Amino acid sequence: MAEKKLRSPIVSVLGHVDHGKTTLLDYIRKTRVAAKEYGGITQHIGASFVPLEVILHMAKPLIEALKRHKLAESIKLPGLLFIDLPGHEVFSNLRRRGSSVADLAILVIDVNEGIKEQTIESIELLRARRVPFVVAANKIDLIPGRVSRPNYPVLLSYKQQPERVRYELEKRVYDLVGQLAEFGFDADLYRNIKDFRKKIPIIPTSGVTGEGVPDLLLILLGVAQRFMGDRLKLDLGPAKGVVLETKKVEGAGRVIDVILYDGILRRNDLIVLGGKDGPIITRIRALLMPEPLEEIRVGRKFRSVEEVVAAAGVRIVAPNLEKALAGSPLYAAKSMEEAQELAKKVVEEIESITFKTDKVGVIVKADTLGTLEALVNMLKRENIPVRLADVGDITKSDVFEAIAVRSSDKYLGVILGFNVDVMPEAKRLAEYENIPIILDNIIYRLVERYQERVKQERERDRLELLKRLVYPAKIKLLPGYVFRTRDPAIVGIEVLGGTIRPGYPLMRPDGKHVGEILQIQSEGQPLEYAKAGDRVAISIRGPTVGRQIRPGMILYTDVPKRDALERLTTYSKELSPDEKEILREIIKIKRKTVSKARPY
Ligand code: GDP
Repeated sequence: MAEKKLRSPIVSVLGHVDHGKTTLLDYIRKTRVAAKEYGGITQHIGASFVPLEVILHMAKPLIEALKRHKLAESIKLPGLLFIDLPGHEVFSNLRRRGSSVADLAILVIDVNEGIKEQTIESIELLRARRVPFVVAANKIDLIPGRVSRPNYPVLLSYKQQPERVRYELEKRVYDLVGQLAEFGFDADLYRNIKDFRKKIPIIPTSGVTGEGVPDLLLILLGVAQRFMGDRLKLDLGPAKGVVLETKKVEGAGRVIDVILYDGILRRNDLIVLGGKDGPIITRIRALLMPEPLEEIRVGRKFRSVEEVVAAAGVRIVAPNLEKALAGSPLYAAKSMEEAQELAKKVVEEIESITFKTDKVGVIVKADTLGTLEALVNMLKRENIPVRLADVGDITKSDVFEAIAVRSSDKYLGVILGFNVDVMPEAKRLAEYENIPIILDNIIYRLVERYQERVKQERERDRLELLKRLVYPAKIKLLPGYVFRTRDPAIVGIEVLGGTIRPGYPLMRPDGKHVGEILQIQSEGQPLEYAKAGDRVAISIRGPTVGRQIRPGMILYTDVPKRDALERLTTYSKELSPDEKEILREIIKIKRKTVSKARPY
């Protein structure tokens, strides 16, 4: 049997915002170092192909210095296919059943800043999808005193740096090693690594000067060739891929941009992919690739091709793509029968991501399957239940779902939207019904904003409830301070323990109800409350001094059963030991006075 050819590994770039992902990718893509002479960089749709020859040419000084000519010769990969757009959202859409279409990733970390929130998010995504990665310790050109060696392998330029710069770089890189260890990753500067299967290589880079880029590309190639050979064996059967994006194009209607990870895709092929209202089976009308740069100047942007071999990025023009879902798998089929079989597989996969239940949980809408999956996974990790997860803009029926949830749990009656719009009638209904809609285009921020909102709302509700609940308190009517005997009675008191507020009911130690506090005053000023140790005047509606109440008497707040229970359970932490003691006294009094049929 003939040995299978290897395809190019698909490489994705992730990392925290502003750590230099775009700049680094642009640099790699623009590496037109003798582009023509060595094959050049081929532009795909959504991806750029850097041929082996270009990489070997760039890394020539490095290969020579390392005396690794054999290694270079042994590489059988055609090159590297870089996904053009960096970041989580795109990476999320490169989904492939529990794994990723990306074979490898570059985690870009600004070496001067270290690991940040989105670095962590990237690490989690890479771990969840089991994608091996290398670390680009980026922006090394910012280290003070550094001598710039544009385009140069970092291993060689390193030796030309002043000692202080070398020290600084090593220090920063080892800080990174330490930080990565906290996440359970064993990383090291790439030149110290003997077995790349055991350690994660760190490659110092600069996206501005290009230093370290040759090292980065060579390491990616080496790691892929040595350890991913099986995965990269090209099957020349029907194509398999993933829908990266869907786009509306004038004249062609809706088209899909697809990353192929295996097989061959031909014009006229029957393809199966996921759609908003069920699987789509259609026939390819045209396969488009970008024109080489020179031709674009003539005015044409795309050229039509007969076939595309994985790994590749290609635009597909076909009927019925209006409802195509980004993030959906795409398969080519040999016959209609096979297409229908594959459609079942596609449906199964999509239904594992979009779902509708009758659970009490938040409503989640996202622009693509990949982002929806990433968002739902993050919510799961945070223990936030999800009732409905779907792709598309927020509609009136989403608001109705949230209203239904709110009747069981007000904190979950919320809609979270990632990169989607709200339909006007949904917006009106949500405003009218007071259903919160939280929109964002960064996944972790969306989840954080929801959590923050719930926290604030809970705190507000807690304070409201605490205000409403009658506090346990014990007061003493001070002899000689009767200002008025009735309608209402006004007396001087001391709060012996707890807190009193206007509106609180009072009772005697024998359990008899005496009336409600109307007002609390001190030196002629009304007070919102009085607490242990305060001596104040209170007006009480109901009793007459000398009859139901007398100077010198002790009174308690008449805490209703429900409030007492709340106090002792949900809000027990709010009470001091003294207040708990008073509450126990109150409960004792109430137990004695309430009939046995309705025990307190
Ligand atoms: P992204 O958000 O990760 O894609 O970051 P960008 O590539 O947009 O870079 C953010 C900022 O950092 C821009 O102002 C870049 O010019 C700058 N930058 C990126 N890489 C480097 C680098 O290697 N060295 C220096 N000095 N600046 C860089």
